[in-house]
Amino acid sequence: MSRVLIIGAGGVGSVVVHKCCQVPEVFSDIMLASRTKSKCDAIAAKLPRPIKTARVDADRVDELVTLMREFKPELCINVALPYQDLTIMDACLACGVHYVDTANYEPRDEAKFEYKWQWDYQDRFKKAGLMALLGSGFDPGVTNVFTAWAKKHHFDEIHELDIIDCNAGDHGQPFATNFNPEINIREVTAPARHWEGGKWLETPALSTAEEFDFPEGIGPRKIYLMYHEELESLTRHFSGLRKARFWMTFSDNYLRHLEVLQNVGMTSIEPIDYNGQQIVPLQFLKAVLPDPASLGPLTHGRTCIGCLIKGIKEGREKKYYVYNICDHHQCFEEVGAQAVSYTTGVPAMIGAMMLLTGAWSGAGVFNMEQLDPDPFMEKLNLHGLPWTEVIL
Ligand code: NDP
Repeated sequence: MSRVLIIGAGGVGSVVVHKCCQVPEVFSDIMLASRTKSKCDAIAAKLPRPIKTARVDADRVDELVTLMREFKPELCINVALPYQDLTIMDACLACGVHYVDTANYEPRDEAKFEYKWQWDYQDRFKKAGLMALLGSGFDPGVTNVFTAWAKKHHFDEIHELDIIDCNAGDHGQPFATNFNPEINIREVTAPARHWEGGKWLETPALSTAEEFDFPEGIGPRKIYLMYHEELESLTRHFSGLRKARFWMTFSDNYLRHLEVLQNVGMTSIEPIDYNGQQIVPLQFLKAVLPDPASLGPLTHGRTCIGCLIKGIKEGREKKYYVYNICDHHQCFEEVGAQAVSYTTGVPAMIGAMMLLTGAWSGAGVFNMEQLDPDPFMEKLNLHGLPWTEVIL
């Protein structure tokens, strides 16, 4: 029986609240707070049980502290934007609240993400006896747990890791992103970076592609090399990794639109003067693109996200693939969201559940792969994200 505060009433936040409501024995009291309270109320109106809602500006520690002192949560799930990670962590420390998020901190004025800022909170969380669980979405999140599971049950040494994220769904829109457009475009247009031979290698964004044959009828798709935040923590925590890469599929249509938008300067985060007003082109673009939360009823097809791993077991080379397939339409039927929000929101709920039930415990800042993968893997099967493993 626990009180949980969920911050962020977007596509992911809506799924987290729906999934927490399905487990009243763990999440007995729920509050959803966000910048726009009407969005929280609209989500609350669709839920099977009552929750509290509130307005909060999560950029402001004082507002967060006031809210937390009033509601007194044991844990806060941050599914606002990466810009708010540090202010929410500060408020959690001030109020004695455990912390869970799905994306690492990113400064608003620089398209750069790394764990350093949040890892720097290690001593403060440890001293306060609180846990901060970082990156409890799908990727990062489940992909970290998949890797820890593989290491625990299938390998003595892991040498190569390829995280492969496929969205084989179609929303029928000329151009839309499946999660927050600003964060998505900052990530996709960043240079690709992968770990090889003990160092990071950088290549231009979207310049390396291969074909991968996805299972269960999804079939061959072009995958593009990218940088993704879990590579930073996984290479730190699995020091035997010789190569670690992250790949994602994109439709030709998405790439064509993105190229034009980049060429005309619409993806820039440098403010420009427009009629005497400072505007950031990427933020303006976000305002005109479809809201990812609105794509739910329009999206069909499936996602397939998994880890392809090579290494050694009992002296022999081994190749292993573990993945989840998620159907956009089934997600919409269950919680009114498409699969990208669903595959992020379910692990956020499970991460919170691990902490609140004591399945995962400890004081300090943790990445997902540092904790026992078994209870988390079990809950994935029970709460809508079943996984399959194959020895290749
Ligand atoms: P949305 O843009 O749909 O939702 C973000 C929500 O946060 C909105 O309701 C927004 O409010 C609210 N918000 C923004 N700024 C503030 C603020 N200062 N104070 C309070 N609330 C604020 O994003 P998504 O739901 O698509 O994504 C949520 C998070 O999930 C992001 O951090 C994203 O990076 C992460 N993510 C992680 C994935 C993973 O697998 N690990 C995959 C996909 C996403 P308003 O409505 O007023 O704008």
